[in-house]
Amino acid sequence: MTAADANTPPSSRTRVRREAHRGLYDKATLHAIVDAAWLCHIAFADDHGVHCIPTACWREGEYLYIHGSNGSRMLKVAEAGAQVCVTITHLDGLVLARSAFNHSMNYRSAAIYGTFEVVSAEHKAAALDAFMERLAPGRGGEARPGNSKELAATTVLRISLAEAASKVRTGGPNDDEEDLDRAVWAGVLPMALRPLPPEQDRPATGVVAPDYVSEWAHQARRCHVDEVAG
Ligand SMILES: Cc1cc2nc3c(=O)[nH]c(=O)nc-3n(C[C@H](O)[C@H](O)[C@H](O)COP(=O)(O)OP(=O)(O)OC[C@H]3O[C@@H](n4cnc5c(N)ncnc54)[C@H](O)[C@@H]3O)c2cc1C
Repeated sequence: MTAADANTPPSSRTRVRREAHRGLYDKATLHAIVDAAWLCHIAFADDHGVHCIPTACWREGEYLYIHGSNGSRMLKVAEAGAQVCVTITHLDGLVLARSAFNHSMNYRSAAIYGTFEVVSAEHKAAALDAFMERLAPGRGGEARPGNSKELAATTVLRISLAEAASKVRTGGPNDDEEDLDRAVWAGVLPMALRPLPPEQDRPATGVVAPDYVSEWAHQARRCHVDEVAG
């Protein structure tokens, strides 16, 4: 067993109770869910009530990172040490059962609890480079780097992945025994987020599509061919 397979004991707020067998507490599952995500939702409370705000995220080691304008209410509340719950959800399919009651969805989701900490000025640029690398590997060497004014206007925060739960559902419907012979279509309608063809802004002479754009286009074509064949 590797460290990534090891279970982190759940806390009172991460122990999955409902459908407890779907709850997972190993790092490998959590990392895979976070690494497949482009965005997370951050729940927090302030004087106006409870909020749940979507934002881009990425992982470095045992931390989930977010960034944004210094003026963001969410970032200011998080920076001040508010308790938060960060969630990530990947919807993998609709599960159509033979009874209305047993319909479900296939998914991979995670809930991360704790407080954010500010990423120091020394590490901020490197953290933002890691985000760019996550979006488009190699683009950091092509786009104009952030200048000191832009860096100063940006807050980067991170939260430990230490207190987290993953919940995963896979497979077909769990029908009641007495419904199994019903003449009704049952099964899974799978779904996935997929690339579409790149749309270049103001084509410039001498600029060829970098590898990550060609790869995106390739994946988009492959998905389209699979769809047509499928
Ligand atoms: C795409 C999708 C669709 C869903 N549809 C429904 C639906 O229609 N009806 C329904 O009742 N439930 C649905 N669920 C499951 C739902 O997310 C909850 O797990 C479930 O409702 C139980 O909630 P609870 O607060 O009673 O869980 P509890 O088991 O009491 O939660 C205890 C702790 O377990 C963790 N936990 C619970 N759920 C999740 C999760 N999904 N991901 C990560 N950690 C979790 C949290 O840390 C939570 O504090 C869906 C989930 C997904 C991802």
